[in-house]
Amino acid sequence: MTLHLSSDFTNSNKVGSMRKVFNFSAGPAMLPEEVLLQAQAEMLDWNGTGMSIMELGHRGPEFKIVAEQAEADIRELMSIPRNYHVLFLAGGATVQFAMVPLNLFGEKTTADYVDTGVWSKKAIAEASRYGSVNIAARTEHQSHLAFIPQQEHWTLNPNAAYLHYTPNETIDGLEFQWVPKTGTVPLVADMTSMILSRPVDVNDFGIIYAGAQKNVGQAGITIVIIREDLIKDPLPNTPSLYSYKLQAEHHSFYNTPPTYSWYIAGLVLAWMKRRGGVKAFYELNLRKASKIYSVIDKCHDFYVSHVHPDCRSIMNVMFHLHDDSLTTPFLAEAEKMGLTNLRGHRVSGGVRASIYNAMPEEGVDVLVDFMQDFARRRG
Ligand SMILES: *Cc1c(COP(=O)(O)O)cnc(C)c1O
Repeated sequence: MTLHLSSDFTNSNKVGSMRKVFNFSAGPAMLPEEVLLQAQAEMLDWNGTGMSIMELGHRGPEFKIVAEQAEADIRELMSIPRNYHVLFLAGGATVQFAMVPLNLFGEKTTADYVDTGVWSKKAIAEASRYGSVNIAARTEHQSHLAFIPQQEHWTLNPNAAYLHYTPNETIDGLEFQWVPKTGTVPLVADMTSMILSRPVDVNDFGIIYAGAQKNVGQAGITIVIIREDLIKDPLPNTPSLYSYKLQAEHHSFYNTPPTYSWYIAGLVLAWMKRRGGVKAFYELNLRKASKIYSVIDKCHDFYVSHVHPDCRSIMNVMFHLHDDSLTTPFLAEAEKMGLTNLRGHRVSGGVRASIYNAMPEEGVDVLVDFMQDFARRRG
């Protein structure tokens, strides 16, 4: 098969897509077709070097261009102030569950955590190994609807080393529509499933981290945005690579970083810039999410959401079928239409449509048509 690629990959007016499915997986998630085609075209020869980017030395001038451009692009997309470091680290968001307490505990040995779901709980379990954790707030329920309590009902410790929360709970489908105010206590956010999906003011945060495989590319790399004053010596016996200080001093090059994942993240960031940046994606994401929630609300005898409308995620739309015996036929028919990976997480069941930045509106349109048609036929 011959590929005819536009030379600069900016051509978004291609007729149709070469891909056969819309992948609603929660992660690793679908990537923009443009990015995959560019990676394919550059696979054997990156920028005239005669080598793949993954074969090039991480300390060489070629990879330096890729690494620095990715950092410059995320700085521009998120308007990251100069007093923040941007690190590209291996190990996934789960490593950050440990790095945050290892580096932020010190004289202060207690931290506040907000527990809004599965990922919060994993972060809490990890932090509890290194210090004491105060659960400042947790998800509550009101007539079968899960919601995040307003901050006035939280029990915050003004002496906490930091407050950690999960702005979007990927498995529970619960998302903050506001940012906690913690005064002088550093705010730490696990943005793995919502980074770059909506505008945030980086100044509100001490640390932002995100595994790449949901909104920024492929697995293997985690972006950490950390305010300068939080870079200090970690707890004794912290593995060298888990020290933000060491990683910042070496610009994430203390050892070999995951170069190919860094490169793919760079392609995604450049693609986002060409498509209008975070604000344009936020508008698109709001539109995509509201199309699905509208069908759930309209067909409320058939579909049900257990998340309070104030906390509905615009990245991971969770819903159930009232008649749970129809879930399996729903998923099987969706699969036949090329709507794949819609099965909810094993702990929650039901259906989950993960609609990250790379999910085109067209994929959501096919899904909502199918949802309405299925409800009409089986309702
Ligand atoms: C997927 C996910 C993680 C885990 O990321 P890994 O890269 O697998 O460690 C952590 N937090 C959130 C919110 C996630 O969605």
